[in-house]
Amino acid sequence: MMIAKTPSDLRHYLGTIKQERIALVPTMGCLHAGHISLIRKAKRLADIVVVSIYVNPLQFGENEDFGQYPRVFEDDAAICKAEGVDCIFHPHNLYTDDGAKITLQVHNLDKPLCGASRMGHFDGVVTVVNILFNVVQPNIAVFGEKDWQQLAIIHRMVSDLHMPIEIVGSEIIREDDGLAMSSRNRYLNKQERALAPKLYNTLQSMQSFASQTHHIENILQHGLAQLEPHPIAVEYLDIRDERSLQSVRRMDENIQPRIFIAAKIGNTRLLDNAPLFPKI
Ligand code: AMP
Repeated sequence: MMIAKTPSDLRHYLGTIKQERIALVPTMGCLHAGHISLIRKAKRLADIVVVSIYVNPLQFGENEDFGQYPRVFEDDAAICKAEGVDCIFHPHNLYTDDGAKITLQVHNLDKPLCGASRMGHFDGVVTVVNILFNVVQPNIAVFGEKDWQQLAIIHRMVSDLHMPIEIVGSEIIREDDGLAMSSRNRYLNKQERALAPKLYNTLQSMQSFASQTHHIENILQHGLAQLEPHPIAVEYLDIRDERSLQSVRRMDENIQPRIFIAAKIGNTRLLDNAPLFPKI
């Protein structure tokens, strides 16, 4: 397995395997079973798998956890090797020393959900993904549905900017109790960890409620009522169309409604989402 630490190392490596179909799996490291499922999907779809590991400063706000974000490269490299990854791209810095002077900007799709509290976050995401796409020039890139808004924005980026890259979404991998796996779950203490599955339980409870009524406000109220008794600070609980991310207030056959939640348990911000009407 090749470990490339600079874009030129990576280009040099990719130059040796020119004819193959390349898949990129962008990550910030601290790999878990969620990332592994992306790597396995990438392996099924391409000949060469490149995993990027880069904690992107541009997507963190001033008071966010950039400094404390877990960095465990040796463990990550062992996982990649065991999974048969061909190359890890692990740059020290992807921006010029005097900062990023040219960036991309998302319009509208970044306003709701996570974008409302994380100003500039998705601009940072699309900028780094664009750099990674330019450096790796993959045929395919695999992203998790766990970060649904990010996936929707990246779909739109490749479409609007005519990038010849196939974007593949990969289903959310969960702990046995339903908690969506995340590198940030390790911030949770024992009591917080015990409470964390409540987010997914609430989404499931809203799904069953939706089989009795299509009244969106009532479904949302039902969800909030599940969370209310617990020390869970709900940032948003919303039902939006899967692609446009527009708020759904009435059911309509052109809409694919999805439930989105972000909440803080203690100091840890957790995200989850699920279709309002799961396919059986
Ligand atoms: P991150 O390292 O958190 O930036 O995540 C890298 C990629 O892994 C993103 O595309 C995430 O959506 C995806 N991912 C993270 N957690 C999960 C999970 N539990 N299930 C599926 N994909 C995930």
